[in-house]
Amino acid sequence: MARIDLDLAHSYHKVVKSDADYALLPLKITFDDGGAYALLGPSGCGKTTMLNIISGLVAASHGSVQFDGVDCTHATPQQRNIAQVFQFPVIYDTMTVGENLAFPLRNRRVPADQIRDRVGRIAEMLDLSAVLDQRAANLAADAKQKISLGRGLVRPDVSAVLFDEPLTVIDPHLKWELRRKLKQIHHELGLTLIYVTHDQVEAMTFADQVLVMARGRVVQQGTPADLFERPRHTFVGHFIGSPGMNLLPVRFQADQSLWFQEQCIASQGLPALPDGALTLGIRPEYLWLSPEPVAGSIPATVRRVQQIGTSQLVSLQAGSQELKAHIAPDAPTPQENSQLHPVLLGIHTCFYQNEELIA
Ligand code: ADP
Ligand code: MG
Repeated sequence: MARIDLDLAHSYHKVVKSDADYALLPLKITFDDGGAYALLGPSGCGKTTMLNIISGLVAASHGSVQFDGVDCTHATPQQRNIAQVFQFPVIYDTMTVGENLAFPLRNRRVPADQIRDRVGRIAEMLDLSAVLDQRAANLAADAKQKISLGRGLVRPDVSAVLFDEPLTVIDPHLKWELRRKLKQIHHELGLTLIYVTHDQVEAMTFADQVLVMARGRVVQQGTPADLFERPRHTFVGHFIGSPGMNLLPVRFQADQSLWFQEQCIASQGLPALPDGALTLGIRPEYLWLSPEPVAGSIPATVRRVQQIGTSQLVSLQAGSQELKAHIAPDAPTPQENSQLHPVLLGIHTCFYQNEELIA
C-alpha cells in the first residue's frame, strides 16, 4: 500500500488555449495509505482521467505523481504495482473461476499454499466459493464482474486498487449487496481503494472520503456527512442528496434582515453575513411546513406530494422558486396553500456567495 500524492493538470490536447482544454485543472490531492476514497461526479468531469493517471495508463501532461514520496510520474502500471478493475469484466473465459482469481498471484510467483488461502478468502468474501471450479465462460455477467473484482483484490501487496464504475453491469439488488461488501472488504484487507462512480449512493456507502468533481475540478473532499451537511459549493449541495439542496436567491441587508422575494424571512439568529445578494441553501430534509402563517414564513403552493416510503416528498412553488421538502411519512398531507417555516434558519442552513460557502 502507498500514500499517493498528485500535483498535476491534464489536457488531452497538444495545444492548451483555455481552461476548457483541460480534462483536469491544476490540482493537489493526497490519498492516504489504507483509505477508502470515491471520485464522484457527472459524466465527463474527469474521473477516469484521474484514475488512469494514478495507475499510469495515462501520463499527466503537467506535473507529478508520487507514491510514498517517490516520483513515479513516468512509471508503468506494473512498476506502480496497481490493480485496476474496469466497468466491464476482464477475465479469462477458458480458465476456472479459481484460476482467474489465482492468476495475479501466480504471475508474481506467490507460493501455492498462500495462493490457495488468499483465493479461498477472496472467493468467500465475494460469494464465489461454490463456483471456484467452474469455467468462467459459462457464468452470467455479474458473476464475471465479481471475478474481476476478486482479481483486483487478491494481491495483498499492491499500492492501491482502483475501480472505475465497477458495478455498472451488476443488477440493482446485487449492486446494493456488493457495495456493502466492498466496504467490509476494505475494513478486512486494509487496502488503499479508489472508487470512481457517478452514483452518489455508491460513493457515500463505499467511501470514507468522497471527492466531488465537476468539470475537471475537485470541488470538495470530505466525509459523506460533510458533503451532506456543509456542502462547500452550491454544485455539491445540488449534486448530493435526493433531491439536492434547495438554493434560494436571498438578500442580506445592513439592518441584519434577510429577504426572499420582497419578504423579510429572518432578522435574528443569523450568522455574520455580507450585505447584498446571497444564496441560501436548505436541504429538503430541513424544510418544515405548516398550514398557518407565522412571522417570516414563506407562503408556498403545494404542487405535488409523492409517497416515497421513508418520507413524503413535497414539491412546492414560492413565487418563481421551486422547492422540495421531505416530511414524515405519516404526517397529514399538506394543504395546497402552505407555509414554509422560518425555523429553517438553524444549523442546517448554508449561505453561499458566488457559489462558495461563506456561513
Ligand atoms: P469521466 O470518467 O468523469 O466521465 P473522463 O475522464 O473520461 O470523464 O473525461 C474527461 C474529459 O476528457 C471529457 O471531456 C472527455 O471527453 C475527455 N477525454 C477523455 N478521454 C479522452 C481521450 N482519450 N482523448 C481526448 N479527450 C478525452
Ligand atoms: Mg469514466
